[in-house]
Amino acid sequence: MLPHPKLFIPGPIEVSEKTLAAFSRPVIGHRGAEFKALYADVQGRLRELFGTQRPVFVSTSSAWGVMEAALRNLVPTGGRVLNCMNGAFSDKWFDVSQRCGRQAEALKVEWGQPILPNLLEEKLAGGKFDAVTLIHNETSTGVMNPLAELSAVLRRHPETLFIVDTVSSFSAVPIPMDELGIDVLLTGSQKALALPPGMALFAASERAMARAAEMPERGYYFDFLEFQKNAEGDMTPSTPSVSHIYALQSKLDEIFAEGVAARHARHARTNALVHDWVRKNGFGFFAPEGFRSVTLTCVANTREIDVAALVKTLKAKHHFVIDGGYGKLKGKTFRLSNMGDETEETVSELLAALDECLATL
Ligand SMILES: *Cc1c(COP(=O)(O)O)cnc(C)c1O
Repeated sequence: MLPHPKLFIPGPIEVSEKTLAAFSRPVIGHRGAEFKALYADVQGRLRELFGTQRPVFVSTSSAWGVMEAALRNLVPTGGRVLNCMNGAFSDKWFDVSQRCGRQAEALKVEWGQPILPNLLEEKLAGGKFDAVTLIHNETSTGVMNPLAELSAVLRRHPETLFIVDTVSSFSAVPIPMDELGIDVLLTGSQKALALPPGMALFAASERAMARAAEMPERGYYFDFLEFQKNAEGDMTPSTPSVSHIYALQSKLDEIFAEGVAARHARHARTNALVHDWVRKNGFGFFAPEGFRSVTLTCVANTREIDVAALVKTLKAKHHFVIDGGYGKLKGKTFRLSNMGDETEETVSELLAALDECLATL
């Protein structure tokens, strides 16, 4: 087998041997005492990371499962949802809202720009919405939206519930759900948490649960009330990916051994290394200053290098995989991830390899 090329794409990201070992533990039944103990063991630490007193639910689906479920549980069919759009994932959420038969309205800015609080305030002042969706960290563009400021706007509109995706920012920066008044906070396994793909985590506020209770036709698999009922007995509604929960438990051990604040600081340092490299090499940033992600960098290809050749050479010579730009940004940008377990040492290795490749282009 060829050596595994290490992933520096912004998801799925590299999964450590230790996490894979936990993922490979023998499977146990999901209705027994052993599983309940496992579920209870991850629960307290998940609540701490979510900044919530609410239960944190484990969904055997990718993030999109919960992103769609949040709409189905919180917005009635034909109800109004405002989708904040500034990149591939947030644009897609608008599409998903429409496919679910919700009346979706766009708060759309150009890719690379952040969602600003005054724009949100304007939209909300102009009409009543059942919910707003926001992607905290737009992985496609490297923009981190100003979550605290946007949450403050939403708190002035208590009839509108706030659904926030933190797939690529969770555990890398503080996201205090209860303090900010977020109604559904969700993340996925394969990005900021550096777990294998296939699991999502979410929590729902009391008023989100009350709203869900009034919603007809919530279905079964993603019914928030089913999650709540089962969580009371330390279980999931249907058979979960037990392997993911073992991997999650191992990851939480690591996160709390490092310290949550130290983990945040590490992401800031590794991200700063990438930013220094971008400046030193005469590239630009796709996101404006003040709104740049701390978990990935979307590099603007201002030097007009052959990005595809860079990606290819880096993989062939150094066994590192980076992303050559998302969708319409292909070739115009490339993305470097510092999510998950990366350290100053490993990020420096990537940057040194990039230097070598750039010299040969
Ligand atoms: C990758 C990503 C998603 C989609 O995740 P899936 O695991 O493919 O469902 C959603 N939101 C953001 C911000 C992402 O980066």
